[in-house]
Amino acid sequence: MNADADSFDYSVVGAGTAGCVLANRLTASGRHQVLLLEAGGHDRHVWIHIPLGYGKLFTNPKVNWLYTSEPEPDLNNRRIIQPRGKVLGGSSSINGLLYIRGQPADFDRWRQLGNSGWSFDDVLPYFRRAEDQARGEGALHGVGGPLAVSDVCEPHPLCEAFIEAAQQAGFPRNDDFNGPTQEGAGYFQLTARRGRRWSTAVGYLRPARRRPNLAIVSNALASRILLSRRRAVGVEYRQSDTTRLAYANGEVILAGGTFNSPQLLQLSGVGPASLLRSLGMDVVADMPGVGADLQDHLQVRMQYRCTERITMNDVIHSWRHRTGAGLRYVLFRKGPLTIGAGYAGGFFRTSPMVATPDVQVHFIIFSADTAGAALHSFPGFIASVCQLRPESRGFVRIKSADPSEPPAIQPRYLSSPTDRDTIVAGLKLLRRIMRQPAMRRYIAEERAPDSGCTNDADLLAFARAAGTTVFHPTSTCRMGGDPTAVVDERLRVHGIDRLRVIDGSIMPTVVSGNTNAAIVMIAEKGADMVLQDAFVQGRVSISA
Ligand SMILES: Cc1cc2nc3c(=O)[nH]c(=O)nc-3n(C[C@H](O)[C@H](O)[C@H](O)COP(=O)(O)OP(=O)(O)OC[C@H]3O[C@@H](n4cnc5c(N)ncnc54)[C@H](O)[C@@H]3O)c2cc1C
Repeated sequence: MNADADSFDYSVVGAGTAGCVLANRLTASGRHQVLLLEAGGHDRHVWIHIPLGYGKLFTNPKVNWLYTSEPEPDLNNRRIIQPRGKVLGGSSSINGLLYIRGQPADFDRWRQLGNSGWSFDDVLPYFRRAEDQARGEGALHGVGGPLAVSDVCEPHPLCEAFIEAAQQAGFPRNDDFNGPTQEGAGYFQLTARRGRRWSTAVGYLRPARRRPNLAIVSNALASRILLSRRRAVGVEYRQSDTTRLAYANGEVILAGGTFNSPQLLQLSGVGPASLLRSLGMDVVADMPGVGADLQDHLQVRMQYRCTERITMNDVIHSWRHRTGAGLRYVLFRKGPLTIGAGYAGGFFRTSPMVATPDVQVHFIIFSADTAGAALHSFPGFIASVCQLRPESRGFVRIKSADPSEPPAIQPRYLSSPTDRDTIVAGLKLLRRIMRQPAMRRYIAEERAPDSGCTNDADLLAFARAAGTTVFHPTSTCRMGGDPTAVVDERLRVHGIDRLRVIDGSIMPTVVSGNTNAAIVMIAEKGADMVLQDAFVQGRVSISA
């Protein structure tokens, strides 16, 4: 099959975390013809595959959409960067590699909200099926799956000190945040194998890309869903200067992510009628929930000057250490180049009244003023707090009918009083850990917030001035059965036939942790649903 073929069983829009999983699973039997459309290019950039290269991808337009939010009213009207992968693998090709699933209670809550089939017991088999856990198989972990998960190769004295300090502050050590309990401090695991990033493009798409029933079309921007009355029949897309149509006999599946899936629905006339009419567009279905309910994890980073030259800043700024790190990586796939966005960290409860951890700490052995900026010239490290279950809700809205114009993105960070209280409590908790003996010996200075920042009002002001995303936007095509939900529990768009959304945008509520693993799970489960429904309805051609 070549890229010009215009009729498929399934058209999948977006080859990101979810899209690559779908492409693999839907083509595995050889019975279905699948088109995978991706706005970005191939994942050849060398820094994609070296974990530490993550920092180099924040500002690279070749692999990143480089979105920014609208001014955030509760963050002093600052615009917040919103990086998203624009490349095969999507955001799993540019993310920080941390492998965290969230808490069992997250999924049980999805089920309690009315989404049958999404409790933790329901989704655990999909987490296990996806996983190739380097530590081996267990009740909660799988081996042999496409997604490699492994430990950071070596302990680091600063991380050891952080974990010990957390224990001194009364929190447990935790060697598996995806194990029986999430609470405590420890090292993160990464989606990596032998020091290489394991995006879904690597784990899922590579093994599938030569299948004759899969057409991967890159540098192709989907501009509209083709709808016949209230039925999806295909996708219009732009490649270079050409507009093409791809028909889908079975289904159109949106996997464009939290910003682009609602954008494409709105561009196709499926969204809030008032918004669409204000832009002079036809309304196919008035769905106020499309683009609503945007949730994200806000992180507030505390910066420290270190007493010893043992941080990544010192490696990067020394020619000798840099060369040594490069050689270690090339020869042994070990050393500083193998670390992701966080090395160690933890999940903590800010109050005994909270049943499960409500804040996450990322402990990072380098420091810079902002994510992706040059590392400081002095030894430094960062510990950040993020609130795990934000109540603030924002939106994604198109600004025009032009698919190449970025949508308006406004997460409305800290607009809820609970979120403000929790971030302040989290900062106080983190300071308590950092002031324990194990950590104190490494701290020459708390650079941000400085020592003048003492009471709750100061800490909130600091959060407003310095808070930024930890890159986990979700829920703009929320799953549910209520009037503003966008997809049902089988991820079918309400009221539109043969159209599904399968990506991070369907989460009813953001999970309590980093989002990539849960989106792989969603896509694994979503693929099963697509294939089951095709089988039951007998509507997809069986034309191997
Ligand atoms: C900088 C950064 C760091 C992160 N760190 C971590 C981490 O350490 N651990 C973790 O678990 N999570 C992390 N995340 C979050 C996680 O990677 C994302 O939640 C996840 O990858 C999103 O998956 P998705 O399938 O919903 O969307 P994406 O992976 O973003 O995929 C969407 C794809 O659709 C394509 N697309 C969009 N619109 C169109 C269109 N109109 N036509 C064609 N193609 C289109 C995009 O180019 C993209 O490839 C991070 C994210 C970022 C950006």
